Amino acid sequence: MTAADALGPAHRERSLARMSGEVFDILVVGGGVTGTGAALDAASRGLSVALIEARDYAVGASSKSSKLIHGGLRYLEMLDFGLVREALAERKLLLTELAPHLVRPVPFLWPLTHSGWERPYVGAGLLLYDSIGGRRAVPRARHLSRSGALRLAPALRPDALVGAVQFYDAQEDDARYVACLARTAAGQGAALATNVAMAGPRTEGGRVTGVDARDLLAGADLTIRARHVVLATGAWTDAGRLPVRPSKGVHILVPRCRVPMDTGLLARTEKSVLFVIPWGDHWLIGDTDTEWRYDPGRVTASRADIDYLLAKVNAMLRDPLTGADVEGVFAGLRPLVAAPDARDTTRVSREHSVRSVAPGLTAIAGGKFTTYRIMARDLIDVAAADLPGTIPPSRTDRVPLLGAAGYRERWAGRERLAGPGGLPVAQIERLLGRYGSCADDLLALIAGRPELARPLEGSGGYLAVEVVYACTHEGAVRLDDVLARRTRTAIEVRDRGLAAAPHAAALMAPVLRWDEARIGREIARYRGAVAADLAGQSEPDDARAYQACTAVPDPIPFYGP
Ligand SMILES: Cc1cc2nc3c(=O)[nH]c(=O)nc-3n(C[C@H](O)[C@H](O)[C@H](O)COP(=O)(O)OP(=O)(O)OC[C@H]3O[C@@H](n4cnc5c(N)ncnc54)[C@H](O)[C@@H]3O)c2cc1C
Repeated sequence: MTAADALGPAHRERSLARMSGEVFDILVVGGGVTGTGAALDAASRGLSVALIEARDYAVGASSKSSKLIHGGLRYLEMLDFGLVREALAERKLLLTELAPHLVRPVPFLWPLTHSGWERPYVGAGLLLYDSIGGRRAVPRARHLSRSGALRLAPALRPDALVGAVQFYDAQEDDARYVACLARTAAGQGAALATNVAMAGPRTEGGRVTGVDARDLLAGADLTIRARHVVLATGAWTDAGRLPVRPSKGVHILVPRCRVPMDTGLLARTEKSVLFVIPWGDHWLIGDTDTEWRYDPGRVTASRADIDYLLAKVNAMLRDPLTGADVEGVFAGLRPLVAAPDARDTTRVSREHSVRSVAPGLTAIAGGKFTTYRIMARDLIDVAAADLPGTIPPSRTDRVPLLGAAGYRERWAGRERLAGPGGLPVAQIERLLGRYGSCADDLLALIAGRPELARPLEGSGGYLAVEVVYACTHEGAVRLDDVLARRTRTAIEVRDRGLAAAPHAAALMAPVLRWDEARIGREIARYRGAVAADLAGQSEPDDARAYQACTAVPDPIPFYGP
C-alpha cells in the first residue's frame, strides 16, 4: 500500500473510481495554486473533496509567475497597508512554518536614480515594508552608496544609479509548490486527478449537483457529484461567471554568468516594475503586462515581449544582453478580475473575488500566488456555508506542506546525508530545497537503483531519480509535466528540453506503463509544443504570434492511452 500522499498512477485510478461513485462535499475544478489550495483547505476541515484539472497541476498562471512571495511594494506606494500586511503575513507564515523547504529569502537591489528626495522616500517605504513584514522573516533593508552598489552588482552601468537600497523578499518554484500542495491535500484524503476536464456543471432541480467531465487520457466521459462545486479556473473562467480580464506576462531566462551580480534587481518601468531574479544558474527577467485576447490555452510570447524585456534590462547593464543570450521564455495569464461589484460574495481582499454563481456553485478569480491560502479559505468559507451541518473554520495556517516536517534537521545534517560515496553535498542541498524531508524518498530510490543518481541527459543538472519520483509521487503523467513543471528543464536549457525528452520518456515509461508507440507519441507531442512556442516567439506581435503558434496543431489534447 503506497502512502496516501503519493500521487502516482494508483492514486489517479483510485480517485477516478471514487469520482464515479461518491458524492463529495466539495468538488474543486482547476489545479492551479488556488484550486489545490482550496482542496487542502477543505480536506483539512474534514470535508470530502475531489479536484479535477484539465491538464496538469499549475499548467496555467501558477507555473508562469515571477515566483515571488511578496508583499507588493506597489500597494505600499498606493498606501494600501491592509493588502501589504496580509501578503507579508503570508510570506512570514510560508517562510517559517508552512513551507520553509520551498520558500526562501531573496535579495533585491533597488537602484536610486535621483539625488536628494528618492533615498528618503524609498528608504522610508522599505523600512515600513520591513516592519510590517515582522522580525526575522527576512533580513532588513540596508542603504548602499553608488560604489557599494556597484561592488554588489558590477554588471550595472555606473551612470545608471546614484546609490541603492538592498531589501529582501521571498521566492519559490511555483509549479513545484502546487504539486506539493496537491500531495498534501491527497494526504488529507482528497481525490485528485489531472487530465480530467470539466465540460460543464450539472444542474438538477435548479441546483448544481456536480459536473460532467472527460478523462482526457482514457477518452472517457464521467459525471462527478458533489454538494458544492467550486471553480478555480483562472483565465479560463467564463466571463458570465466572473469578469476575468486575462493579462499576459512574459519572462525570459539568461545565463547567470552573463550578468555579474550578487543580488537580484528591481527597477521601475513606466507601467510597473522590472525584476531580475536569481534562479539557479540563470537570471529570471520579467515581466510584461499586456491584454491577451486569444485562447488562454495557447498563450505565447512574441518577439516584441522579448525585445521589450531586453531593452529594459539593457538600459542598466554595462554589457548589454542580446537575443542570443535568451535560453528560456515563458508566458502566462494573470486572471485579473475587473473591479469587484455588489454581486461578490466576499471581498476580503481587493485582489480576488469570490462569487456565488448559482445554487451549489461558487467561483473565484484574481489574487496572487502569495495569498493563495487566504483565497482558498475565503472560497471554502462560502462553499461551506452552503453545506449541511457545522463546518469548522480553515486551519491551513497550521498545516505544514509535505516535506516541511524534519526539513531543518535534514538541512543541518546534510553533510552526513551526502556521506562517502553518496551524492555531493551540493546535490543534497538542491534536493532538500525542492523536496524538503521527502528527499529521503529519493535517496531511498537511489539506494535501490544506483543508476538513478545519474543526471537526466540534456537537463542541465536534474537527476534521473527526479523523473521517476515525479511519476510515482508527484502526479506527472505526460512528458511535459516532467520537463516543464516537476523539473524546469523546458525553460532552463537552450534547446527547451528536446535533448532531454527521450531519456525522460524512457525513465517515465515503466512507471506509467508506456509502450514504445506511446513513448514515441509523447516525444513527438513535446517537440510539437516546443515548436509552437518557438514559432510564436519569432513573430513581432500577439496576433501573429498566436497565429504562428496555433499553426502547429495543439499539442495538448490527447485521447486514448
Ligand atoms: C507573469 C505573471 C507573474 C506573476 N508573478 C507573481 C508573483 O511573483 N507573485 C505572486 O504572488 N503572484 C504572481 N502572479 C499571480 C499568480 O501567478 C496567479 O495569481 C496564480 O497563479 C493564479 O492561480 P489560479 O490557480 O487562480 O489560476 P491558474 O494557475 O491559471 O489555474 C487555473 C487552472 O484551471 C484549469 N482549468 C481551466 N478550465 C478547466 C476545466 N474546464 N476543467 C478542469 N480544469 C480547468 C487550468 O488548466 C489551470 O491549471 C503572477 C502571474 C503572472 C501571469
